[in-house]
Amino acid sequence: MNLYEQHPYWLMKNGIVTSYPSLQQNLQIDVAIMGAGISAALTAWQLRNSGLKVTVFDKSHAGMGSTAASTAFLQYEIDTPLTVLKHLVGEANAVKSYELCRKAIYDIGDLCRSFKPAFDFHLRPSLQYASFKTHTANLLEEFKLRKKHGFKVEWLNQTDVKKTFGFDAPAALLSVDGGEVDAYLLTHALLKNFQDAGHKVYNNTAINHIEHTRQGVTLLTANNLTIKAKKLVIACGYESLHYVPKKIADINSTYAMVSEPIGDEFFWYKNSLIWETATPYMYFRVVSENRILIGGRDDPFHHPHILPSVIDRKTEMLKKAFLKRMPHIPLVPDFSWAGAFASTKDGLPYIGSIAQRPNTFFALGFGGNGITFSVIAAGIIHDLILGKKNADADIFRFNR
Ligand SMILES: Cc1cc2nc3c(=O)[nH]c(=O)nc-3n(C[C@H](O)[C@H](O)[C@H](O)COP(=O)(O)OP(=O)(O)OC[C@H]3O[C@@H](n4cnc5c(N)ncnc54)[C@H](O)[C@@H]3O)c2cc1C
Repeated sequence: MNLYEQHPYWLMKNGIVTSYPSLQQNLQIDVAIMGAGISAALTAWQLRNSGLKVTVFDKSHAGMGSTAASTAFLQYEIDTPLTVLKHLVGEANAVKSYELCRKAIYDIGDLCRSFKPAFDFHLRPSLQYASFKTHTANLLEEFKLRKKHGFKVEWLNQTDVKKTFGFDAPAALLSVDGGEVDAYLLTHALLKNFQDAGHKVYNNTAINHIEHTRQGVTLLTANNLTIKAKKLVIACGYESLHYVPKKIADINSTYAMVSEPIGDEFFWYKNSLIWETATPYMYFRVVSENRILIGGRDDPFHHPHILPSVIDRKTEMLKKAFLKRMPHIPLVPDFSWAGAFASTKDGLPYIGSIAQRPNTFFALGFGGNGITFSVIAAGIIHDLILGKKNADADIFRFNR
């Protein structure tokens, strides 16, 4: 499966950060992690001082899956509003999911600051505006429910939005807690740190077959090498769906573009992360070199090879939608790409095990909050592998 098409900005900007070799001999280890994206990197990093021999394998190159294509908004607001999620999973679990995502933003911040030198991370407010007047009532309900549960939110009417953000929208919900990070670089920083702690990472090592044994798993690579491990973590992004016997997610195509650098340093209030209530939504933020990133205009299906002409058309649509709100910003598209994007029935990820695959843990952070879900998955899987109870694991279990 192609996880993206064309040129994700971060891949172009950062290029190859760290090269890892391919596997050349059979291995016997404690934990094998399949995939080397942000989910795998966070899980590996969590396990680095566990005393276990942990190894990461990617069929391609570390970080070059969806992680390189990610627009890397760090938001606790998942694609399913709290007012809807509470009916799907109960109010307590819905609120807990939002709280865990909010904590994940700050965990990433702490993690970034723990590196020497500190890794680039910014806290940003997150603004969701009503795309249409008819969306205002639902957004107001969302505001009230979040406020009731202690989230730091503010209600902006049309005048407030205009005054604070300089664009027209019927109303908006402003959240204090949001953030941004370069997910591709962070993945490399985590893996490097993991390697420095004495573990190994292999690129160009596809796991083609998994056999579950009483002692653990036996993995067969594309070049017929055998890896025996006591535990397996499947963190292959959307490709992980091959290893789950029932359908748990729909795969869509999503689009993103980054503009040429623009002179200003501050474009709107604290360079907030901005998104809207329409489905599929358009979202935008400021990235390095004062470029503007815009994403969205999803299609409800995914074709493994998206034509450049489709990406061009989507880029024009994103540009037009952005300029409708921000006509004063001289936006010229520079990089555009498309990626696969999965959504689940309730917007929550699937984390943990299934009966059919013993000794195996999945880290499936799907949806618009894939990265915050990856943080949650890494924490839960760390605990489960070490035989500890994790109080949050139940919310994201497969048979929910
Ligand atoms: C355009 C776009 C925008 C997005 N925007 C956001 C956003 O703003 N905020 C957010 O939080 N999330 C966002 N996401 C989602 C987020 O990027 C993903 O959830 C996240 O990157 C998934 O990381 P991962 O490590 O699980 O998967 P990936 O990064 O896809 O990594 C999986 C790895 O597994 C490897 N692999 C697959 N099969 C095998 C095998 N058999 N053997 C060995 N290796 C294998 C692949 O080569 C790949 O490197 C976005 C996604 C896209 C595409």
